[in-house]
This record gives sequence, C-alpha cells and structure tokens, in this order.
Amino acid sequence: MLAHSHKKFIAREAAKLREGNRVRQIPPVDHGAERYLLHAGRRLLNLASNNYLGLAGHPALRQGAIEAVERYGTSSGASRLVSGNFALLDELEREMSSFKGQEDALVVGSGFAANLMILSSLADRHTVVFSDRLNHASIVDGIRLSGAKHVRYRHNDTDHLAKLLEAHAGAPRKVLVTDTVFSMDGDIADLATLVDLCQRHGVLSVVDEAHAAGIFGNGRGLAAQLGLADRVDIHMGTFSKGFGSYGAYIAGKAEIIGYLRNTGRPFIFSTALPPAVVGASLAAVRLVREADTLGRRLLDMARDVREYLGSLGLDVGSSRTAIIPVMLGGNEAALAARDALVERGVLVGAIRPPTVPQNTARLRISLRADLTDADLTLFKTAVAQMTERV
Ligand SMILES: *Cc1c(COP(=O)(O)O)cnc(C)c1O
Repeated sequence: MLAHSHKKFIAREAAKLREGNRVRQIPPVDHGAERYLLHAGRRLLNLASNNYLGLAGHPALRQGAIEAVERYGTSSGASRLVSGNFALLDELEREMSSFKGQEDALVVGSGFAANLMILSSLADRHTVVFSDRLNHASIVDGIRLSGAKHVRYRHNDTDHLAKLLEAHAGAPRKVLVTDTVFSMDGDIADLATLVDLCQRHGVLSVVDEAHAAGIFGNGRGLAAQLGLADRVDIHMGTFSKGFGSYGAYIAGKAEIIGYLRNTGRPFIFSTALPPAVVGASLAAVRLVREADTLGRRLLDMARDVREYLGSLGLDVGSSRTAIIPVMLGGNEAALAARDALVERGVLVGAIRPPTVPQNTARLRISLRADLTDADLTLFKTAVAQMTERV
C-alpha cells in the first residue's frame, strides 16, 4: 500500500501538470525512426525524430549490428573496466579519435551519461561552470551533480557571458559548456567568440555536438566546420541522432580522456554498450566519413524549408539547421497545429514548457536527409493548409 503522504504528494504534483497542460504521454507510434511511421495505425511522414541522416535503417548499419551480434552475442556482460570490453569497442574509439582529429576518445553509454560524467569529473565545488541557458537537461544535471557553482548566461549572449566571467575572475577553476546546435531552436552557438573568451579567462571548454555530429563539418561537428576543433578542450557527441545508432563519444587530449576513464562514474559503474549498438555506430561513422556530403544536403534542404515557412508568415526563430521551430506561444496552439498536421499525414513535435521557456510553445520540425521531393511536397502542402486554418 502506498503511504498516504506519498499518495497526497503524487496527486498534488499530477494536478499541477494537468492544470499547466503539461501531462506527457508516449504517443501511439510504431517504427519510430523510419521515414514513415504508424501513428495510431495511420501512416505519417516522420519529421519528429533525430534520425537526421536517415541512417537508422541503413543496410550498412543493420549489417554492422548483425555481424557484431554474430561475433559477440547480445550483451557486453560487464563494465568495460571489469570484463565488458571487446575489440569492436576499441576500434570505434580509434575511429572516433582519428575522425575528430583528437588524441583520444572514449565511448560511453549515452549522451546523457557522457554529460553527467564530463561535468561531475571535471568540476567540483571549487569550480564555476558557465552554461548557456538553453543547454540540454543532461548538462544542467551534470553541473548539479558536480556541486560546482552554476552560472547561466542568456542564450547565445556572449556579452552577458563576458560580464559573468569578469565577475568570477577569481574562481579557482572555470568550465564553459555549450550545445553547438540547440535542440529546441535549431540555432547554433557563437563558438568563435566562446573559445576566445575561454582562452582569455583560462576556462576549460566543453562542447555538446549531439545535433551537429554527422552533419556539420563533413560529419565532424560544428567546431570542426568553423576550424575551431583544436581550440575546444572536450568534444562530446552522440551516436543516437545523426549517426542513427546509440551511445556517445567524448574526444580530446589524452590526459583529459584518461582522467575521465578513471573517474567517470557513469562509465565505471555501468555496463558497456552491447555489441549490436557498437557495430552499428562503427558502420555509421565509416559511412559518414566516406559519404561526407550527406550533412550538406540536409542543411541545404533545411534552408529551402525555412524560406518556405517564412513565406507563409510563420516564425522559425533563429534556426540555422535541420531543426526548425515554428513559434506559436501557447500550449494549446502548438497542440492544435500539431494535430492539424497529423490529420494531413505529417508528424512533427509539439514542444511545450518545461522543455522550452514559458509562452514559447512551438512545433519542432526535424528534417532528414532521406526525404524525397514527394515527401517535401506532402509536408509543404500540409503546413500551408494548417496555416490557413489556425
Ligand atoms: C539528445 C541529447 C543528449 C543526450 O543524448 P542521448 O544519447 O540521447 O542520451 C545530450 N545533449 C544534447 C544536446 C542532446 O540533444
């Protein structure tokens, strides 16, 4: 029996969610990463996944996963540091450090785990961590876990950051962490200014390339595209989005990666990724390395779509990527617009607070490189009809 105190607590919190229109439900979706999925049994164009390059169903990734299972079975059986290691995992790390042009790389269970361990290992209560206000939840949690002083600067406001750096000039250690592509706005960080500020103030820089990996910089990420890879201390990214698999990498100088291998609790105390996932990730990285125009194609498509949405009078914010928000403000407006698109055969995300700030509910359209002309026509027609209606 649930104790009365807990019953009361849960009922009160659940009521708050209902009042704020913030109840979340797992949507009735099947085949989540595919270009078309089933939504309550209806076939919809899937513009709501992070499978940006359409690699999640690619024959090379499937083959990589199958071969890994045939060779190693279905589980790694233990943490890497105990007995869970296998040659394919070492190979993926070598591939990533060479692809990223960094001395060393570590593969970990997920992007969420990677951010928790980077921040909790490199920051402590004597550290100040400067963090963009719109950074991913896993970054926020990593900072909290570290016990560091958490200093948030206004989104992409490097003047604000510069002032905060001055104000904390005497801190024993400083870390700056930023998404390179922001997940709910699709805009990009001003990395050139950020690395300048870091260098000037002795700040360790950490970039989260979750939405840029595989896409920008011929797949190497935004830091690489901007020629700043060597001026960033820690490069983190995931295999779960553009790369169409699962897990994450952390790349950088050997002394930093070696330190993380010894201190990162989500690495030490968690089972190594399963062989199928590692096989698929390795195939994905090799494929992106060879077909390095996939990302460019996606970004060109995104520019056209943003122009089209703008021509309908929709506000796409400051998106520069394949993540395109349509700003609607209220939660109900976002849900109504999402439903109107579903009726017309297209699934996009309806993103509401607390995922985004109050009164900035929006549609989140995520394009993918495998869309055909017919898919784009379907999408554009649906949006035009939705715009007339709402
Ligand atoms: C998705 C995401 C993560 C988490 O990665 P997972 O591999 O899904 O755990 C971390 N940071 C950012 C910016 C993300 O978008």
